[in-house]
Amino acid sequence: MKVGFVGLGIMGRPMAKNVVKAGYEVTVFDFNQEAIDDLVAHGAKAADSGKAAAEEADVVITMLPNSPNVEAALFAENGIAEGLRPGATVIDMSSIAPKASQAFAERLAKQEVTFLDAPVSGGEPKAIDGTIAVMLGGNQEVFNRYEELLNTMASTVTRVGEVGAGNITKLANQMIVAINIAAISEAYSLAKKANVDPEAVYQAIRSGLAGSTVMDQKSNKIFSGDFEPGFRIELHIKDMQNVLETSHAVNVATPFSSLAMDIMQSLKAHGLEKKDHSAIANFYELMNDMKLQG
Ligand code: NAD
Repeated sequence: MKVGFVGLGIMGRPMAKNVVKAGYEVTVFDFNQEAIDDLVAHGAKAADSGKAAAEEADVVITMLPNSPNVEAALFAENGIAEGLRPGATVIDMSSIAPKASQAFAERLAKQEVTFLDAPVSGGEPKAIDGTIAVMLGGNQEVFNRYEELLNTMASTVTRVGEVGAGNITKLANQMIVAINIAAISEAYSLAKKANVDPEAVYQAIRSGLAGSTVMDQKSNKIFSGDFEPGFRIELHIKDMQNVLETSHAVNVATPFSSLAMDIMQSLKAHGLEKKDHSAIANFYELMNDMKLQG
């Protein structure tokens, strides 16, 4: 099986390396030549366009920021679609708008190319370890064909429905994470202002009902004030934009998501959009004129 891989950023670079390591023939493309060179040093072949990365491929994996980037990579001049053969498949692992996934699938079907949306959770450390969680939408038989390939990058791959369902699942994940970070920040603010050590509160409640993976992964960042990413606020704003557009399109009220989005917009207004999303705690510090550290 020959694989094309387009998008070698924080996530795509280690993911592509894991596919190479598993023995697949992988041809890579990114706007960033240094990322291509790094993959070539690990055994991949270089391409000078999406089209060239797709020409020999049975399957092309994309890992790009958002819907417009995926659209450009697929359909712009010299893009992936120009190189794809009938019978090939595109697996888009970016977190994008579910409606965009469905539109791309329809456009590619016209040239007899199948499409899976397969966004991921886990961040850079799990991308490096090959232990990301994949939530996948698309045809079961197409999924079966590529399950082994996906397992070179992931510890779990869960098919959740047809095309678009993968990104709906990712949006659900992002809603829960953003609201959860806001909830723990709010609770720690109460503790601090009431003269109870927030770290003691964390230790006391982490194994009870309020405990969560978010609490375990983000509390120490909040207590140390180390907000280096991680997952950048600007990427989470992109996801919440997709949450709100999608929730309005299906006529569902998502008030806590709206609030989490406004909190992150406020942090962006303070120039903090490149910080980790655990910097949501900063919003509470600014609002309450306090520090959670120390
Ligand atoms: P990134 O910005 O680090 O990487 C994106 C890469 O795509 C860059 O190298 C860029 O040069 C390349 N690119 C953009 N447009 C291109 C095009 N048309 N052709 C070729 N290359 C192009 O982003 P990332 O952090 O790797 O995230 C990728 C996706 O994964 C996003 O949708 C993000 O929301 C999602 N995600 C990220 C994380 C994380 O922790 N970073 C975790 C889970 C999911």
